[in-house]
Amino acid sequence: MIITDTHTHLYSEAFDEDRDEMMRRAMQNGVKRFFVPAIDSEYTERMFQLEKDYPNEVFLMSGLHPTHVKENYKEEIAHVASLLAERKFYAVGEIGIDLYWDKTFLAAQQEAFQYQIQLAKKYKLPIVIHCRDAFDEVFEVLEKEKGDGLFGIFHCFTGTKTQAEKAIGYNMKLGIGGVVTFKNGKIDKFLNEIPLQHIVLETDAPYLAPTPFRGKRNESSYVMNVLEKVASIYEISTEEVAKITTENSKEIFGV
Ligand SMILES: [Zn+2]
Repeated sequence: MIITDTHTHLYSEAFDEDRDEMMRRAMQNGVKRFFVPAIDSEYTERMFQLEKDYPNEVFLMSGLHPTHVKENYKEEIAHVASLLAERKFYAVGEIGIDLYWDKTFLAAQQEAFQYQIQLAKKYKLPIVIHCRDAFDEVFEVLEKEKGDGLFGIFHCFTGTKTQAEKAIGYNMKLGIGGVVTFKNGKIDKFLNEIPLQHIVLETDAPYLAPTPFRGKRNESSYVMNVLEKVASIYEISTEEVAKITTENSKEIFGV
């Protein structure tokens, strides 16, 4: 069984004490492919080091996270652009709009999001979307950029069935993580009405740990708990879910 964690911040300081053991635990559980979203330029060197340590397992993205769109966002998106021009990345992410913490930079978030989508199209890469309290704003940008070159993942999808269908309409797969295991997570109620071909698995480690680890540090091995929950929702085996969602991840990332 090969499980793909399509969204994991393995370079986070949260793993500085035990990163190798954490990676071993994941691989022993069958998690063999790790897609790693960027946050901002402060983490670039850490990401390269991680790739050096795990060259066959780790696949890097480049992007500016919406909660890190601040006064200096123009320099930050120029950094993303120059990285993409220099070397191979597997997606532009994570990018999007987050109005949960702060609305001050909404206009800059929208601009950074759209610009980074255009970069993704230029390099024929998927995008990985972060959307929090901002479905309307995210869809507004996707509507402007829709078409053949637009594809990717709606990471940590927590919306309604209508929003799920809308995201799929823009060539997005739904990234399903720990929230699906929460009692009040809601998406478990309709997920089986969405064909599994539109679903990928993720942890968003070190954040959003699934039940029974909710509130603790998340890690990629816990994608097993997400896998088991998704298998029970679709009433098929965990092997089948792992196989299909890994195929879906290959279709998106091209690897
Ligand atoms: Zn993330």
